Amino acid sequence: MVRTRFAPSPTGYMHIGNLRTALYEYFIAKHNGGKFILRIEDTDQERYVDGAVDIIYKTLEMAGIKHDEGPDVGGDYGPYIQSERKNDYMKYALELVEKGEAYYCFCTKERLESLRAEGETGVKYDRHCLSLSKEEIEENLKNNVPFVIRQKIREGVTSFHDEVYGDVTVNNEDMEDQILIKSDGLPTYNFANVIDDHLMNITHVIRGNEYLSSTPKYNLLYEAFGWEIPTYIHVAPVMKDQHTKLSKRNGDASFQDLVAKGYLPKAIVNYITLLGWAPSENREIFTIDELIEAFDVKGISKSPAIFDPEKLKWMNGEYIKAMDFEEFYKMAEPVLKEAVKTEGIDLKMVGEMVKSRISTIYDIPSLIDFIDGLPEYDKSLYTHKKMKTNEENSIGFLKLIIPILENTEKWDNDSLYALMVSTAKENGLKNGQILWPIRTALSGKPTTPCGATELCVLLGKNESLKRLNEGLRLLEG
Ligand code: GLU
Repeated sequence: MVRTRFAPSPTGYMHIGNLRTALYEYFIAKHNGGKFILRIEDTDQERYVDGAVDIIYKTLEMAGIKHDEGPDVGGDYGPYIQSERKNDYMKYALELVEKGEAYYCFCTKERLESLRAEGETGVKYDRHCLSLSKEEIEENLKNNVPFVIRQKIREGVTSFHDEVYGDVTVNNEDMEDQILIKSDGLPTYNFANVIDDHLMNITHVIRGNEYLSSTPKYNLLYEAFGWEIPTYIHVAPVMKDQHTKLSKRNGDASFQDLVAKGYLPKAIVNYITLLGWAPSENREIFTIDELIEAFDVKGISKSPAIFDPEKLKWMNGEYIKAMDFEEFYKMAEPVLKEAVKTEGIDLKMVGEMVKSRISTIYDIPSLIDFIDGLPEYDKSLYTHKKMKTNEENSIGFLKLIIPILENTEKWDNDSLYALMVSTAKENGLKNGQILWPIRTALSGKPTTPCGATELCVLLGKNESLKRLNEGLRLLEG
């Protein structure tokens, strides 16, 4: 059975590149009827951030993906919190020491720093402690001298196959005897990920390509234990532009930031999945279930993908258009209430007008800012080539329609439209010659989220007539 895992470190924030990795892991597992495991990698106590684990749960929940086993689900393997698995790791490290594949290192920080400063071995550890005698080691352990456990990298070359990057070969000489267990007794990421992936029967490891170069070291560990090496799928980073990775410092890198800016989790999930993965068919809008169905590792790209906010905006707009109105209204209502203070305005009607015209709900206020008050506008707005209106003839058009509107009782969309169109017809005018001046006078804007009659209904008869007369004064003034 295919088993994948998402192994985030609790940093207090979910980078969208990380979320994308989680999605790929989820899709690969589910596409194959397998399991998706969540493992919190919190062994770096210095980086621990309060509440960060909750952010991970919350993000996955909002993104619509659920892990199959893990901290709050239990399952065959119990809770997957790395820091709580301390004893296991030490046991495995000692097994490697036994086998001669790892060794105790008692070097002090000072010694390591001076080594580095001298630069003799590059950034690599000089294997000083590899030659300690059994007696020296026992003496040090007895005296509680702080130690780490290092992997003894064998000579030779290590090759492996990556599903995205193909065959990768590294000369073992280029690898350092990496630390497996730190002086606080906790494992490094480099060690814990191997042990955990094995214990959790992970079959496919999907992660950022920054781990590509460390993978040979992990494989040497698998070999030392005699364990099966998983299938590797390394993915390229998400970039801000050609040269810079999307990072916390560059803003907008986190799922939470995007949600706070009004992007729908579903649209974010859809968009970021397509960053670095191409479906076999030429199509862009996918639900989670459709992504599970369509996901194929072959579509993952080797090259970095650039995060395009405009594309995300477009996609979010498509999701909003497709949303059920009541669901949309529930989401938009607080923004509408904040944007419209005038009593008696039908906010649902406003919601209907804007729904298909926005990228996020935060686009709403600027579209409807004319409701609470007519903005100061230039009379040139009355000029519209196609409608055949200008500053002069609009005076006559308004003078014609104002008394007719004053005298009608039927202030609904259909009646008003019929009235305006018949007035135009009777006077040998184009419809636009009546509709455009009305739209301009009621909104004071070159574009509105609705037409002249809807504006009349929205603002009501009194306010509409007031604005039409103001328009007339402006044109005549
Ligand atoms: N904890 C690692 C990270 O957040 C996980 C990498 C992996 O998936 O193996 O980068």
